[in-house]
Amino acid sequence: MVNAVVVGSGPNGLAAALTLAKAGVTVTVYESCDTPGGGARSGESTVPGLLHDHCSGFHPLAVDNAFATFAQLSDYGLEWAWPEVQYAHPLDNGDGAAAYRSVDETTRGVDDASWQRIFGSLTNQFPKITRDFLQPMLRIPSAPLAFANFGFRAGLPANLLAGLMRTDRAKALFAGVAAHAFRPLDSFGSAAIGVALTTAGHAYGWPVAKGGSAAIINAMVDALHAHGGKIVTNTHIKSVQELPEADIVMLNTAPKAAAQLMAPVIPGAIEHRLRSFRHGPGAATVSLAVEGGIPWTYKPARRAGTVHVGGSSSEVAFVERQITTGIMPRNPFVLVGQQSVADESRVNNGIHPVDAYAHVPAGYPHDATEVIVQQLERFAPGVRDRIVAHSSRTTLELEAQNPNFVGGDIVTGANAFDQLLFRPRPAINPYSLGVPGAYLCSAATPPGAGAHGMAGYNAAQAALAELQR
Ligand SMILES: Cc1cc2nc3c(=O)[nH]c(=O)nc-3n(C[C@H](O)[C@H](O)[C@H](O)COP(=O)(O)OP(=O)(O)OC[C@H]3O[C@@H](n4cnc5c(N)ncnc54)[C@H](O)[C@@H]3O)c2cc1C
Repeated sequence: MVNAVVVGSGPNGLAAALTLAKAGVTVTVYESCDTPGGGARSGESTVPGLLHDHCSGFHPLAVDNAFATFAQLSDYGLEWAWPEVQYAHPLDNGDGAAAYRSVDETTRGVDDASWQRIFGSLTNQFPKITRDFLQPMLRIPSAPLAFANFGFRAGLPANLLAGLMRTDRAKALFAGVAAHAFRPLDSFGSAAIGVALTTAGHAYGWPVAKGGSAAIINAMVDALHAHGGKIVTNTHIKSVQELPEADIVMLNTAPKAAAQLMAPVIPGAIEHRLRSFRHGPGAATVSLAVEGGIPWTYKPARRAGTVHVGGSSSEVAFVERQITTGIMPRNPFVLVGQQSVADESRVNNGIHPVDAYAHVPAGYPHDATEVIVQQLERFAPGVRDRIVAHSSRTTLELEAQNPNFVGGDIVTGANAFDQLLFRPRPAINPYSLGVPGAYLCSAATPPGAGAHGMAGYNAAQAALAELQR
């Protein structure tokens, strides 16, 4: 009987655990917190009965990927819900831009044919592209032409790609998505995450999980239990020596933590690589309880699941550069999640849950509530008077809740060009920790951040392949 231990129960830890359990491996997951879920938890944090997503809210890359096909989480109760407008980007004077599932409708709205030229063919090819994009890069792509079409755009600096667009609306709409990378928009490869998420928005939408992102975790936990797996909570693992003997050890941790955990046995060269892994800027979050929702002047934003708040593309580029150099912007880029637009069950007595975060320098110690509310007021005057309760977390509090978010880095690793291509280190099997049976499976490994489970699934596939040898 083969057995495995998984340290950490984020979406990737659970995806790895489920993949192994379905292959007949006996799996035990250890989790520091009192509930499983990592960056996909939900719960009350403002007023009683109002459900907030504490971290991930929108899941464009989770809807249709190899792990989703493998896990069939709908059998365990997971349902997706889509907003009518996938995401919006308000501009001054009531103007703005909105992304719809349809490339044509989005192109008409931004009044710029280049949107269709850049994203039209990619959207048709996206199911093929994701097969390669959601894997380690050092491999022969399964659809080389489609992947090259993607790579040609993704490898550019985001501002260069935005420069191919004609209107301010199109440029701002793309800059808002590209900013998800937490990278200066003039750096190489800074378009990659923007191109992937924009195209995913057209191909799959940006849905929420009905009943909160924790529904993704609940489905994985139920599936894991159905296949004999166990989860032990309230147990922080400091060293692999604390773990029971196992054929497979999966670490759903940040790279430096993995190096520490494996310190007695990990080869020196790999330990050095993991300790040199770089983290990016941080996020400071605010959950708001808003009477009647946010009164955006740009009306389509009222129907959007996600709203990118930061003004013009050049303003977004300016503040994204500032945070990487350690400067807290006066008007930071803010992501606003309005999950109740897609999932009405989250509205409680007319109060809407809103989950926002500002991009801030790594380790920024201060509360960001006031700067976030000021940014909202710019595009939704009167919102302040509708806020009936709020709760916030600084970068340091985020890290205290989840050690994978080092300095508030919610994407577990800077998306610099080298780390985009090779994370956490250049290797055919980047999940391997250089010790037979030991693997890293967090968002610090390919394909990177998101509650899509693909890093865990890929790492578990690598472990199962090693067992066959
Ligand atoms: C505010 C915010 C908003 C986000 N928005 C989105 C979004 O809309 N869409 C999206 O896809 N992603 C989003 N993300 C990112 C997403 O949450 C992460 O990329 C994802 O959760 C990473 O999954 P993971 O399994 O690798 O690790 P994590 O989710 O970070 O989970 C790691 C788990 O391991 C546990 N752990 C770590 N070390 C140990 C140890 N030594 N012993 C025991 N347990 C340990 C932690 O407690 C944690 O539960 C957001 C994140 C944040 C914080």
